[in-house]
Amino acid sequence: MREALLCVLRCPRCGNNPLLLEKERVDELEIKNGRTICNRCLAEYRISEGIIDFLNKANERVMRERKAMDEEEYITDESGVKYRITDEAIEKFKDKFLTLPQGDGTYFFKRGGSFQGIVEASGRFYSALESLHLTGKEKILEIGASFSYASSKFAKIGCSVVALDISDYLKVSSLFIKNAYYDRVFSDMHNIPFQDNTFDIVFGAAVLHHSNDLKEIFSEIRRVLKTGGRIISINEPSRGIFEKVHPVFEEVKKKGFGDVSYTIPEWRKGAREGGFKKVKLEFLSLADDYITRHKNRDTRDNFKLRLAHFFQSHRGIERFILAVLILPRLLFRQKSWRLIGYK
Ligand SMILES: [Zn+2]
Repeated sequence: MREALLCVLRCPRCGNNPLLLEKERVDELEIKNGRTICNRCLAEYRISEGIIDFLNKANERVMRERKAMDEEEYITDESGVKYRITDEAIEKFKDKFLTLPQGDGTYFFKRGGSFQGIVEASGRFYSALESLHLTGKEKILEIGASFSYASSKFAKIGCSVVALDISDYLKVSSLFIKNAYYDRVFSDMHNIPFQDNTFDIVFGAAVLHHSNDLKEIFSEIRRVLKTGGRIISINEPSRGIFEKVHPVFEEVKKKGFGDVSYTIPEWRKGAREGGFKKVKLEFLSLADDYITRHKNRDTRDNFKLRLAHFFQSHRGIERFILAVLILPRLLFRQKSWRLIGYK
């Protein structure tokens, strides 16, 4: 972290600001090691390798999920060797991480590869980035930042960025911050260690469904947003009103993950009850998703692909078809969508 962050940090335990800072090791980029202390409740938060850790006061649900993530063997190499996200693995695969989200076209990013999901969702990330029309002056908080490539893209535009996550995946950020700096915190997103009205944008990809209380999480995000600020949430799973909960939710729960399956009306209700005065739910292009996936899998040319290209070059017709499909998508299967809430 950098010292400038102190003025917006607050103690997640008692809400006090400012925290006191003790520096132990500083390099040309940031404070690498040290601690911050709350002089009201005396809680102490360590800074280690540049990341400030607010998780020592987190609840049991969060700590169980953190453990599940850190134990997950995320990366499998070509000979089938599996790796957790450790300092060694980050160093070993740094060239791969640095190409996220679109990847470098090698084994790791193709079908069955460890980063397949990120590559195939990369079109949605870039579309969201474009829709934000960033000027470079915005203050952005990325929740559930994971490897934090999104934070890195925002920082490259010049924005002042904080990446927040609960797991060691966030340590991958040490590769990115050398190019464009951003601050990093380990924290529960339900108890964000920042003052009210701090950020212009809160961004999250596939993270809010880890909350079991949408009203609470939206309300906490709203608190740290400035008036007129926005939450933009992409890649969240959701299910149709008449659709059953996918069995994968039960499987990941056994491992300790906190994923919850919500319907679109539940998402909207959560954002509204959390205090967002305007909530937009956008069902995204099916053609764009199909083309990104197809490119990544090198499958043969087919009718669906030609149709997708047709829609991509005739957006008016696509918009009409998408409008017709809104109801069936709402009832049965959404595919990709995003939520934007305005404070
Ligand atoms: Zn405190």
